[in-house]
Amino acid sequence: MGVQIERALEDRVLHLRRTVHRHPELGFEEHETAALVERELDALGVEHRRSAGTGVVATLRGADAGRNVALRADMDALPVQERTGLSFASRVPGKMHACGHDAHTAMLLGVAHVLAPRRAQLAGTVVLIFQPAEEGPGGALPMLQDGVLDDPKADAVAMLHVDSRLDVGTIGLTPGGISASTDELAIEIRGTGGHGAYPHTAVDAIPAAAALVLALQNIVAREIDPLASAVVTVGTIAGGYRNNVIADRVSLSGTLRAHDAEVRSELERRVRRVAAGAAATYGVEIDVEIVRGYPPVVNDEPLTRSFAEYLRGNSMLRIEQPAPTMGGEDFAYFAQHAPGVLIRLGVRSDQAESFHPGHSPLFRIDEAALKYGVETLVLFALAATQGDIPSEERSRRGAES
Ligand SMILES: [Zn+2]
Ligand SMILES: [Zn+2]
Repeated sequence: MGVQIERALEDRVLHLRRTVHRHPELGFEEHETAALVERELDALGVEHRRSAGTGVVATLRGADAGRNVALRADMDALPVQERTGLSFASRVPGKMHACGHDAHTAMLLGVAHVLAPRRAQLAGTVVLIFQPAEEGPGGALPMLQDGVLDDPKADAVAMLHVDSRLDVGTIGLTPGGISASTDELAIEIRGTGGHGAYPHTAVDAIPAAAALVLALQNIVAREIDPLASAVVTVGTIAGGYRNNVIADRVSLSGTLRAHDAEVRSELERRVRRVAAGAAATYGVEIDVEIVRGYPPVVNDEPLTRSFAEYLRGNSMLRIEQPAPTMGGEDFAYFAQHAPGVLIRLGVRSDQAESFHPGHSPLFRIDEAALKYGVETLVLFALAATQGDIPSEERSRRGAES
């Protein structure tokens, strides 16, 4: 059984995507976006409520009490100055939908358009989750705490993310761990300041910072199993006053990423050890603060494999299994709560110039992908409510929630 996305609906989704794209809003400021989502749902007669401030949860109740499926889209933009030159480019200076969340929001509304009129034929309930603040500080956790997967209890949850590595018409489904943990690193180095001409009277924080940045690179290069995945990135370095003053303070910030819990803890431990070593060597004080961010996304294996099979049988879409990435996604929390799958949607094409990676000021998508995204999510909802795509029975689910 395929799903036909009508031309009029494709146009509507395109219009919604461009409207959201023109008015990007950062995490937990998605007021206009949430209002647009609500207006569209109202027009379709779909019940909805607010969650986590600017989040919106819509519920499509089928006639049968079958299985319950949740689909999640994120709505927030990034603090990036758009440089695509597109006619519908961001009208807000310094803010841009550079990660495709505008497309995610529009496609999930497209799903509402397809499923609302056929609610009565649904074998279960479909919950549409419009989530704020994926790029930080994170809208998934507050929505989960608000019970968005509990009433009704979700049997499966899915999301779609645009992917500029995959051609338009391609869907990426990779079982198992597919994204990284994202922990924030903040380091403060304290010496004592002085005159640049008399270094022996001061404790210089600059060489300590330089040595520390280089020593941190050694962790991934020499201390972590090359077959495991890990990243230590120092993203900012700040300190000093002027050319002839010895800096008393330098602060660094960065990100630590890993695909599994053991490597994640190992990174933390080793960063602290290297910092303590630099402090002893250079006679400075070094404080290390690590704030744990999103856990890795783990795609439910049977659900992911069976959905890939289902798509092969019920659509013309090309199915690939792209490699995991070191990106982060707070969908991870949803996928800890119910069997979940993060579906990658190919948006790359030469004519649309959609080959720039997410978060680039030049990021674009080929909008032909929008209809494939709607089709894929609708097929997931139908297959999962009908029980056509089994997921792993999770005995630990009860204990966890
Ligand atoms: Zn992003
Ligand atoms: Zn994103």
